[in-house]
Amino acid sequence: AKITVGMASCGIAAGAREVFNTLKAAVKELPLALDFSGCMGMCYNEPLMEMTMSDGSRYLYCQVTPDKAKEIVNKYMESGKPVSEWLAYAEDRDTADKSFLVQQQRILLKNCGIINPESLQSYLAVDGYAAIKKALRMHPEQVIREIIDSGLRGRGGGGFPTGTKWALARKTLSQDKYLICNADEGDPGAFMDRSVLESNPHALLEGMLIGGYAIGAQQGYVYIRAEYPLAIKRLSLAIAQAREEGYLGRNILGHGFDFDINIREGAGAFVCGEETALIMSIEGKRGMPRIRPPYPAESGLWGEATSINNVETLANVPWIMLNGVASFNQYGTEKSKGTKVFALAGNIARGGLIEVPMGMTINQIVFDIGGGLASGKALKAVQTGGPSGGCIPAKLADTPIDYESLKKIGAIMGSGGLLIMDDTTCMVDVAKFFLNFTQEESCGKCTFCRVGTRRMLEILERITQGEGKEGDLELLEELGQSIIAGSLCGLGQSAPNPVLTTIKYFREEYEAHIYHKL
Ligand code: SF4
Repeated sequence: AKITVGMASCGIAAGAREVFNTLKAAVKELPLALDFSGCMGMCYNEPLMEMTMSDGSRYLYCQVTPDKAKEIVNKYMESGKPVSEWLAYAEDRDTADKSFLVQQQRILLKNCGIINPESLQSYLAVDGYAAIKKALRMHPEQVIREIIDSGLRGRGGGGFPTGTKWALARKTLSQDKYLICNADEGDPGAFMDRSVLESNPHALLEGMLIGGYAIGAQQGYVYIRAEYPLAIKRLSLAIAQAREEGYLGRNILGHGFDFDINIREGAGAFVCGEETALIMSIEGKRGMPRIRPPYPAESGLWGEATSINNVETLANVPWIMLNGVASFNQYGTEKSKGTKVFALAGNIARGGLIEVPMGMTINQIVFDIGGGLASGKALKAVQTGGPSGGCIPAKLADTPIDYESLKKIGAIMGSGGLLIMDDTTCMVDVAKFFLNFTQEESCGKCTFCRVGTRRMLEILERITQGEGKEGDLELLEELGQSIIAGSLCGLGQSAPNPVLTTIKYFREEYEAHIYHKL
């Protein structure tokens, strides 16, 4: 049998390193292999340890301590069978946590928590780099056609069709072309990109290789927050391994295609997730958005044609190339194809990293996968899309999660943070928290965003201190609409969303603060 310990940041923070070191000593003289992986998804159950039997059956143990790990190994060695205690998931047993995994559709996360993220061999063993081999046998325009036909849309929040973006960059006459991966994940509560990078970094590199080949680029950059040290370490290692084995660099796999990838660390400004600010930051300037057009596909990094895609978007590409368009768009809704990775956080019994087909409802995610609220109280609201998103009330929790349906109710998909709140949450406080975040992160270029958000925040502060006045809500709505209309980039254009959606769906709470001086 083989033992694998989940060692992404979530596992390490919960004590997985100690478990791994204990097992290392314990299995020394035993016929057991030991390895580690990235995030297994069940972050609420860390540290996690999986036993894979010689017949391929898998047994996942949760909340493992060094002592429990030793006991699991000892009992297995005595009986030759996996023990039942602390089992979170096994195909042949009923466990309390089984529904967390079986109700998901793991395409992108298929190998996360399975393979060793620091081993190229581990990635190659699951068909790694087979997709770029296939792509290199096709014309770049055929590759773009595949991605257009798959219906893949940008997973960073915008939802722009990825293949169309690539086609625009390919079409532009430009001396050099660039492909940038936006790994500047900054929404409070979001950890999808970090988990993918810590768990399967070669999948991102392979997606970037395919994208680079499709648009005609020779250089790629991953723009990643410096606050993600483990992701940076594993990605750097993966780049070095890929260069060593001829998957990056000159004349890749003998096909005459040159492509290299470098990492650029961001200092943590939220606005640098906006593509034009991100480009300025890579160029060594202060990260501030600029007016578009021209779009980066026409004039991006150093004024050359550039495609910017998010981590999840690019990591989907190898799977699509290998499994085909039809396999990908069998999942999802008419206009939102495939699956979506979410970071399930907040007041939830089973928080973690999940992947579901587009179109699953919020209720299904919260109750069937997430196991309901951690407090056992009633669901009050779900915040999607972080500070740019919106608060969806429980009465609308049957809304399918896809780009169009969320937009219809005033929220946005965003990059995939899902923050769950119970009925003791003050929605005015929630709106104030998010507005405070965006207000602090405003780059200051536009008056509406810089000053308007501050005025809104002052009103919210007054309201929560019991000093609200009649007319405050109308003023907040008017200011919010002005900021949306008068802001240059997505940060300002979406900053009022948490306030506007909470006024729309929880107006009585604002009124209680204002008229009853709560
Ligand atoms: Fe800067 Fe805000 Fe204007 Fe965006 S909307 S450019 S963050 S001031």
